[in-house]
Amino acid sequence: MIAVFGSANMDLVAYVDRAPARGETVTGHRFRTVPGGKGANQAVAAARAGAEVAFLGAVGDDGFGTELRAALAAAGVDVRGLREVPGPSGIAHIVVDDDGGNSIIVVPGANGTVTGPSEADLAAIAGSRALLLQLELPMPAVVAAAEAGRAAGVPVILTPAPAQPLPGALLDAVTMIVPNEHEAAAITGATGPDAALDALLERVEEAVITLGAAGALYGSRSGERLRVPAAEVKAVDTTAAGDTFVGALAVARAEGRPMAGALRFATAAAALSVLREGASTSMPHRREIEDFLA
Ligand code: AMP
Repeated sequence: MIAVFGSANMDLVAYVDRAPARGETVTGHRFRTVPGGKGANQAVAAARAGAEVAFLGAVGDDGFGTELRAALAAAGVDVRGLREVPGPSGIAHIVVDDDGGNSIIVVPGANGTVTGPSEADLAAIAGSRALLLQLELPMPAVVAAAEAGRAAGVPVILTPAPAQPLPGALLDAVTMIVPNEHEAAAITGATGPDAALDALLERVEEAVITLGAAGALYGSRSGERLRVPAAEVKAVDTTAAGDTFVGALAVARAEGRPMAGALRFATAAAALSVLREGASTSMPHRREIEDFLA
């Protein structure tokens, strides 16, 4: 079982010709609500990639909370550790303009009430084969979960997004960090992925820097280095490619695949996700990933 301790948001997406300026009203041409949040997205990606997944987090007592829970359950994710708290669920208010640019407001809502793993969360983490973390819950909660994972000997895989300064206690507890190239640069201050990888490996045992259409770069403190090209596909929508990559990577690692094979599995899953629109809607099932690799 893979445990994901993280955020669930309802994405409220408005499509416009151009975003409104302050004080201005514009008419959009499409609107949709899509279950999201980096934690929930990684949980769905891992479940589709073939693992049993427990999602640990919080939604509000509103209609979005009901929908978020149902969407995770429909993807086969165990939601017994998803608590309902008074107040609104987390939302991401997203404006997408015709140039494909976007602006996003995240209101954490219920996610912001998570102060740390509950007793039940700790048991789930200790019984898991990997713990996936991101930075959309309050930092003290993320640190506590990471420390619980490390104490139980569970590999802790961190997606450091949204990028922010990382406390030493978090880095000490993390087994593998998986930033994209922008996050890697922001965290390390290094120029270029190779230098950023070196800097990350000073603090963490293993690191993968994802490079969009250029693939991914892996390194371990034991000196292993791997560069994996992305699959050549015609990208339609790269939303959540990174979350798909991490979810699939965790599944492959939890199954004991060597890193090179695990990276190929994750790369295939991410490539399939960019062929389709949306976040969870675009994530491939295990059969598709295996067919793609064959
Ligand atoms: P990113 O978060 O953009 O670094 O992307 C994560 C992973 O998704 C990359 O390591 C690639 O494996 C895959 N990916 C992202 N963009 C593309 C693309 N345009 N074509 C193929 N694969 C992609």
